[in-house]
Amino acid sequence: MTRYRELAPPPRTIMTPGPVEADPRVLRAMSYPMLGQFDPAFTALMNETMEMLRALFATANGWAYPVDGTSRSGLEAALAALIEPGERVLVPIFGRFGHLLHEIALRYGAEVSVIEQEWGRVFDPQQVIEAIDRVRPAVVALVHGETSTGQLQPLREIGAACRSRGVLLVVDAVATIGGVPVETDAWQLDAVVGGTQKCLSVPPGMAPLTYNDAAERKLLARRRIERGLRTPEGGEAQAARQIADAQAGMLPRERHIRSNYLDLSQLQDYWSPARLNHHTEMTSMLYGLREGVRLALEEGLAARHARHLLHGGALAAGLEAMGLQLYGERVSRLPVVACVRIPDGIDGEAVRALLLEQFGIEIASSFGPLKGMIWRIGTMGYSCSRRNVLLTLGALEAALLRHGLRLPAGEAVQTALQYYTRSEGI
Ligand SMILES: *Cc1c(COP(=O)(O)O)cnc(C)c1O
Repeated sequence: MTRYRELAPPPRTIMTPGPVEADPRVLRAMSYPMLGQFDPAFTALMNETMEMLRALFATANGWAYPVDGTSRSGLEAALAALIEPGERVLVPIFGRFGHLLHEIALRYGAEVSVIEQEWGRVFDPQQVIEAIDRVRPAVVALVHGETSTGQLQPLREIGAACRSRGVLLVVDAVATIGGVPVETDAWQLDAVVGGTQKCLSVPPGMAPLTYNDAAERKLLARRRIERGLRTPEGGEAQAARQIADAQAGMLPRERHIRSNYLDLSQLQDYWSPARLNHHTEMTSMLYGLREGVRLALEEGLAARHARHLLHGGALAAGLEAMGLQLYGERVSRLPVVACVRIPDGIDGEAVRALLLEQFGIEIASSFGPLKGMIWRIGTMGYSCSRRNVLLTLGALEAALLRHGLRLPAGEAVQTALQYYTRSEGI
């Protein structure tokens, strides 16, 4: 006997910028029996997943596969692969995740230049292009959809400017992939990292990414001691000897070699037909990712993007009808996260707790300068539905009334219903 009861997570409506509700078909896929990682039945699933990821990222790139770990692992793997120590990297920052890119680039020894935009806005592409011409970086690292501020950075002009100057552009599309168009090839993005637990509605635990030939050339020709260091199957002993030899003539502070786990040159060998053994693939996660991407493609990317626009629009209209103010520049709003100002005199955390405890609905708080100032309400993936939007508006209204806020009762849900009727008429 154990005093622990059987696992029974409470049912929730998750309206945050991730992790969001997983599609039940994804959860079912993850419960299927195990396959060995080199079983041809499993490697066939890996190959199909790569093919489907190319469609998802809108790319003809040879490489499109997941890194095992949450989205941050993909960002770190991409930056580690593409930054030479001492190289100049430009990071335009317009929210929390820009700071993350900055931090990672510093860890890998880049000379980082940042430009910062006031939170709640994005960069005019021209500002970024001017900074590129001033800094002359080897790499630009930029967030596409900033979930901390609910803003969407246009990338096309920046992509073209980077390409014409021979600068590699690395994009964090964690929050946008599967919910908002991400055009890897058309926008000339060199490396793009997506996320699972946001608009794809797969549990957290993988970071699908893609990169082109220019990025691959750079990651294969990395700094001196890593050059030639490829761990062949079962070749850890040989790799250890190579590292030791390479380090012998170096000062201790020069001896750092980057992550083994996140080494894209080894990971791509594992995803290549050679299947050089690296770590054990997260087999059940791969089932989930494959099903999540399959469902996205089955829905159709254009239809899926339209669904996210529709429900994000209905939510925003309902929030405004309640008398609440949306935070941030309107034209560049990220359709999958509504940032809402917490009304004066209202305890944001108490309202969130009431929503969770009484209605089983989770909305998010915020970070840094926005903490206590805004709530963030996501409409992502499987959570992005009419039912969830209407329930959330009704519940938030009730919670705010309960906390003594005077508001035009009933307007929010009616406005959202009206929004849906009008959208159907188009
Ligand atoms: C959620 C998020 C991340 C981090 O993802 P993890 O899965 O938590 O590692 C990075 N960038 C953006 C824009 C995000 O929204």
